[in-house]
Amino acid sequence: MSTDEDSTNETHWDLAPKFDFVDAHRLPFSSDKVSLKKIDTECSGPFEGKAHGRAFTHAANIEIRDLQYRMYTEGKQSLLIVLQAPDAAGKDGLIRKVLGQMNPQGCRTYPFKVPSSEERAHDFLWRIHKATPAAGKVSVFNRSHYEDVLVVRVEDLVPKSVWKERYEIINNFEKLLAHRGTRILKFYLHISPREQLERFKKRLDDPTKHWKLNAGDYAARDKWGDYREAYEDAMEKCHSKIAPWHVIPADKKWYRDASVAAIVRDTLRDMDPKLPEIDADLDEIRQLYERELDEMNE
Ligand code: AMP
Ligand code: MG
Repeated sequence: MSTDEDSTNETHWDLAPKFDFVDAHRLPFSSDKVSLKKIDTECSGPFEGKAHGRAFTHAANIEIRDLQYRMYTEGKQSLLIVLQAPDAAGKDGLIRKVLGQMNPQGCRTYPFKVPSSEERAHDFLWRIHKATPAAGKVSVFNRSHYEDVLVVRVEDLVPKSVWKERYEIINNFEKLLAHRGTRILKFYLHISPREQLERFKKRLDDPTKHWKLNAGDYAARDKWGDYREAYEDAMEKCHSKIAPWHVIPADKKWYRDASVAAIVRDTLRDMDPKLPEIDADLDEIRQLYERELDEMNE
């Protein structure tokens, strides 16, 4: 058998590798400065390669769906997943391949774009708060309230005196959500400028991706360092046990998907949602069923 055929055979992969993804990618809770430059954009974790990583993601997705179903029926806890990243780092792909695999009855994705005039006429959390998950639900934020201390800061959209107050406001907001029973996971998809440029090239070469092209993306590349600093500040000031940041090496798409799937799965396992206790009298319902069946068969 060729190695190629071997690598597509999912059954021999170790789908429960001894590797702590949270420990590997969650920022530490020390007061150290965050330095994104010191964090690799490439990683293979415990995986032998792409086929192994993809097989792991597939298995993790199945477990995530089961746990999410339990959370939905339990109707108590909720989960908020925040995605932030430079352009082309793969938020959309991650949603398609992992987070979007959850049951849409209990999970919704919210993309946050340049605020509308109505949104701009309110405080910056107004549009965000409305999208937070109700009991039993999952919300995935494709960009988030963090844009209001990132793009807003780098592009000088509001004065510093305004955005610098927002870190504390964000911390209090996240505390409020946690207080209600919402688990919060924040992910930064970490790619290198070189990998980003390669992906921009692929977009140019693929007519179905032309809609994603935007001259502004190149302008943002010129400000890579400013964005990095803004991200580092946001992570430093808004990292807590109730709403931790994870920096995901995202140059390899399959590793990005596998590691986020692992962290979401482990978090849901930890939340341990339970199917609700039943009030109904099962014996009585079984009798009703038997009677109905007898009548049908007469
Ligand atoms: P995309 O996610 O590629 O569709 O792009 C959405 C765009 O909206 C990005 O360029 C964001 O920086 C921008 N955006 C999101 N939130 C805000 C905000 N609060 N203020 C200004 N721009 C924002
Ligand atoms: Mg874009």
